[in-house]
Amino acid sequence: MELPFAESYKIKMVEPIRKSTPAQREAWIREAKFNVFNLRSEHVFIDLLTDSGNGAMSDMQWSALMQGDESYAGASSYYRLKSVIEDITGFPYFLPTHQGRAAENVLFSAMVREGDIVPGNSHFDTTKGHIEFRKAQAVDCTISQAFDTTIEHPFKGNIDLMKLEQVLKSYPRDRIPFIIVTITCNSSGGQPVSMENLKGVRRLAERYGIPVILDSARFAENAWFIKLREKDYHDSDIRNIAGEMFACADAMTMSCKKDGIVNMGGFIGFRDEELYKKASVYNIMFEGYNTYGGMSGRDMNALAQGLIEGTEFDYLQTRINQVAYLGNKLRDFGVPVLVPYGGHAIFVDAKRFFPHIPVSEFVAQTLVVELYREAGVRATEIGTLLADRDPVSRENRYPELELLRLAIPRRVYTNNHMDVVAVALKNIYDRRKDIKRGLKIISEAPIMRHFTVELGMA
Ligand SMILES: *Cc1c(COP(=O)(O)O)cnc(C)c1O
Repeated sequence: MELPFAESYKIKMVEPIRKSTPAQREAWIREAKFNVFNLRSEHVFIDLLTDSGNGAMSDMQWSALMQGDESYAGASSYYRLKSVIEDITGFPYFLPTHQGRAAENVLFSAMVREGDIVPGNSHFDTTKGHIEFRKAQAVDCTISQAFDTTIEHPFKGNIDLMKLEQVLKSYPRDRIPFIIVTITCNSSGGQPVSMENLKGVRRLAERYGIPVILDSARFAENAWFIKLREKDYHDSDIRNIAGEMFACADAMTMSCKKDGIVNMGGFIGFRDEELYKKASVYNIMFEGYNTYGGMSGRDMNALAQGLIEGTEFDYLQTRINQVAYLGNKLRDFGVPVLVPYGGHAIFVDAKRFFPHIPVSEFVAQTLVVELYREAGVRATEIGTLLADRDPVSRENRYPELELLRLAIPRRVYTNNHMDVVAVALKNIYDRRKDIKRGLKIISEAPIMRHFTVELGMA
């Protein structure tokens, strides 16, 4: 008999989590104005709000912390991280920042100007925020299959090269500072981008003389999917695949709170010394001196070790298998989930779950609130709340997909926790017709409203 699959690590330290009663949860979610960002984490039993900054560090990472060099300039921790980044990405220059959006802030300060056009594949919300904040425009060139949750396409994060070329043709070269490709594509469901597609983007970019940036928060998961799903890569090493991906780019930003498996951190990688120098000025202003940026020495050490572990085959297999385990459970229960499964999360299609609730009543957020009520599980909305208002017309933007995201923190929960989440959603699915109304907005911020929005029952 073939041996079953098991995790590639064992547990050395535990943190208690607590259950609650339905009555307690009802009071807490009302107090939180139906916005799960306002909940106290101690009122959450299983927290799948995000996979960002909440991974479990290894014993090797904790011991690397102890060796952190906190020198202001030229710390050994900086050089340790620099060497790992260069090994994995091939980028000879890098700037540490405190997280991914800080990397965007620094790099975009050097590159994006008012009126610019930035094509990409479903830009992440902070990426789009930093583009729109500079009065530039993000243009989504993702393949159309990405917007149908039932199509089994292996690389739903891909850029539609025809759409991209149309954008490159329509604007003068100096209004397009770069093309940004997000690997994996968070906003379309943690879906990977194929190597073939990255190379296609590279060819187009070279033809039009435009740089390519990789938004690389989950580059290792992307490399994993290339290995599994793209012919010619089945026998390749994850790190070689990652190197080949980064060879298609001129620079990269990374939120290290994802595949870097650290609680805080980010960086920008550069091939070009001139751009590195230009961005350094902003890094010093916004983040810190170039050899620490937004990070302490110990954090740079933990990140260097995290990048090594995060690109190991056994680790990635454990991670992606757990995500698929949850996806399969939900699919077996008949709950409509996005296929194929993404790398870091399972996405429930809220429009198919609650077809009778209009999108104007925030159908995905309605499901997020129900899931919390049912089992104290915190998920997040990837739908109309997140899509925010059009910056010009101030109308709600209704995205094609209304999703509830179950993001799985790295090395944190067991499959028993996944079973609880799956059954909780099944129970809601069984009584879905009893939930007749969605939510309405009581108050909201002018940008990135989903973090602080206050809602009421519609
Ligand atoms: C998380 C994330 C960011 C922003 O990073 P933070 O560390 O949260 O600031 C940018 N892009 C993508 C694709 C992300 O997943």
